[in-house]
Amino acid sequence: MAVTAVRTYVLQAPLEHPFAFSQPGWVTRRAAMVVELEDDAGRFGYGECLLNGLEPPEIARATVEAALADLVRGADPLDRAVLWERMYNLTRDFGMKGAVVAAVSAVDIALWDLAGQMLGVSVARLLGGRFRDRVRAYATGFYRRADTDRAALVEEARAHRAAGFTAMKVKIGFGPADDVATLTAIREAVGPDVLLMADANHAYNVATARRLIRDLDPLDLLWLEEPIAPEDLDGYRELKALGPRLWIAAGENEYTRHGFWPWVAARAVDVLQPDLTAAGGFTGLRDIVALATAAGLLVNPHVWGTAIGLAASLQLLATLPPVPISRGAFEPLLEFDRSVHPFRQELVVQPIRAEAGVVRIPDGPGLGITVDRAALRRLAGAG
Ligand code: CA
Repeated sequence: MAVTAVRTYVLQAPLEHPFAFSQPGWVTRRAAMVVELEDDAGRFGYGECLLNGLEPPEIARATVEAALADLVRGADPLDRAVLWERMYNLTRDFGMKGAVVAAVSAVDIALWDLAGQMLGVSVARLLGGRFRDRVRAYATGFYRRADTDRAALVEEARAHRAAGFTAMKVKIGFGPADDVATLTAIREAVGPDVLLMADANHAYNVATARRLIRDLDPLDLLWLEEPIAPEDLDGYRELKALGPRLWIAAGENEYTRHGFWPWVAARAVDVLQPDLTAAGGFTGLRDIVALATAAGLLVNPHVWGTAIGLAASLQLLATLPPVPISRGAFEPLLEFDRSVHPFRQELVVQPIRAEAGVVRIPDGPGLGITVDRAALRRLAGAG
């Protein structure tokens, strides 16, 4: 078995209403970078890489085409872990993090998809089996348009609840007073039984985050995500040492076992949030999960992309061991992006839906989805 072709697709669609989070700038489009591998039996394997809100997809595409494709073409998908090491090593001196590792991740995911199809099993079973066949989803949203006010954010929370979600994550980072007022209003609107999380997208320094944590703690949040810069490991340790009820979470801007190892060794956060489509694909995440589990830390992956990345993340979520296994163990949650995305579900024949706030994990071969190749090519402008 051999990979005969490596293709990349960049998909982009403008947003009618640009939205913002805590960082400067406006998200004016949704984009995706999808990798398609074809093998000598005519099968297609798919992977997607994470594109952060303002990230141009062309960086990851160039990495795949100019650096990774020659390694993968002609290779056996069953050698995926060997290929991961070779791809990482090839790009190490100009990569190690960011879009370059995201490109490696997309190729790795596509290799696992092909390997699963070759063997007739899902990626989760290829990884060692499923701890769960469904996962509770939390609604991600609460991005802000130019005209968004607090009432609109409360209305959005009610809409997620009405759609069946019992967990949701609110974008904060607009100043501690605004953050506390927003979360107070949302908590009052949805009641005490909804799992609430907050995500600051590294809006603050340690001093401000310390005050924010004290003010937020009475609101019974499950976790506070990225309160400070993703490089500030010591700052995270300091915040965690405050001993808040809420969990400190971070990791969507960290990559591979090399990047996560210091965070695990320092036990700098309660919840690590590697993104499968950025931090190293299935091969890379397997290492990160092993490190985290050895330290007794929770892993709850970051997810933000199309149905291809979502399906891949579901395969990973199926395999995450409870830490520890017990009746009272925390079950990982699926981040389910509910913000506007013109083609999120168009790339697959069967859209991935949450029903009553729960998503079923497909068990078909590979990623367990059928990619709509015609839609992919049309949306990428490839004819
Ligand atoms: Ca986040």
